Amino acid sequence: MKTYKIAVLAGDGIGPEVMAVGLDVLAATSKRFGFEIVHEEFAVGGVAIDLFDDALPESTLKGCREAEAIFFGSIGGPKWETLPPHKQPERAALLPLRKYFGLYANLRPAKCYPGLLYASPLKTENIPDGFDLLVVRELTGGLYFGQPKHTIAIENGERAIDTMIYETREIERITHVAFKAAGLRRKRVTLIDKANVLETSQLWRKTVKAIAPQYPDIALDFMYVDNAAMQLVRKPQQFDVMLCENLFGDIISDEAAATVGSLGLLPSASLADGTFGLYEPSGGSAPDIAGKGIANPIAQILSAALMLRYSFGENEAASAIEQAVEATLADGARTADLARPGDASLSTVQMGQQIISRI
Ligand code: NAD
Repeated sequence: MKTYKIAVLAGDGIGPEVMAVGLDVLAATSKRFGFEIVHEEFAVGGVAIDLFDDALPESTLKGCREAEAIFFGSIGGPKWETLPPHKQPERAALLPLRKYFGLYANLRPAKCYPGLLYASPLKTENIPDGFDLLVVRELTGGLYFGQPKHTIAIENGERAIDTMIYETREIERITHVAFKAAGLRRKRVTLIDKANVLETSQLWRKTVKAIAPQYPDIALDFMYVDNAAMQLVRKPQQFDVMLCENLFGDIISDEAAATVGSLGLLPSASLADGTFGLYEPSGGSAPDIAGKGIANPIAQILSAALMLRYSFGENEAASAIEQAVEATLADGARTADLARPGDASLSTVQMGQQIISRI
């Protein structure tokens, strides 16, 4: 039997609550599809600061190194917000994890299910069948990391500099991720850029165009980022895969998330070269609802599906999870974040059971 080894980093707040359900879904799916998931749990974030005075202890990093993928919950919360910035959970754990494992490709699907149109802030008549898009964001280059990056004193104030740099190689590798992802979807890639103003965007266009012939069944088009931001709220169903550099992807992926209606529905994957990846909900640790057993586990469950697809190539099992989520929502199951006034709402565990019963 095929066996996959994963490191489980549940973290803080609702992390452990939704992670438990995510692991139950993985167990049910692996049983049905004939493979085994072996997992080991490690401390990360606030809970690791409390235990080890370190948001990413060496024991956790070692566990991740020895695994084929990281299944991550969420980290942070009010208890650790007063720590100095470099010690805070997200900065001291997630950013180093991305860097250590070279996680350069961030995949954030945003799917608005037909039965949940009311949860979207968009006008229902503009999205009669919902929408289903994927933002592929370059995660380790561009304006966030380019040098020089500093603030200096000048005669009448200060001068701050950030630098946007991209090299062909960085663009090529994320472009392959986007084209391959489109091949598993509706076979269309839109490069989001600002090629009318930015040199880096021109290099992106040139590089992406040069790679496109390797994927003859994928359609490629281009859109300026300001137009894309507008089109996302006017007609999101026109997009399949939106390929973005780091800054544009940061903004566009959050906008796409907002159009869906609840953070509790949105998974994400951060991929390295090869098959290694980190899979986590797009939202945070939701301290306002932590410990109540009412968090929506779907983002964690769909992150498990992404892990099966992108790290283990178990496409059928991944689709089975996604279809079970869709069927559960179509049958009217709702956690509190999705419930309308008067709707009964399910607990985290009950929602998980509903989904497992449909796998
Ligand atoms: P958040 O995403 O935790 O919460 C925003 C809102 O969305 C809250 O009302 C919350 O209840 C709701 N929400 C999020 N996930 C939900 C779910 N699964 N089910 C139902 N409702 C859900 O963002 P925040 O409040 O700005 O941040 C809280 C903490 O999380 C902070 O410490 C922040 O730094 C951290 N954070 C961590 C990550 C991460 O681990 N990757 C990401 C973002 C924020």
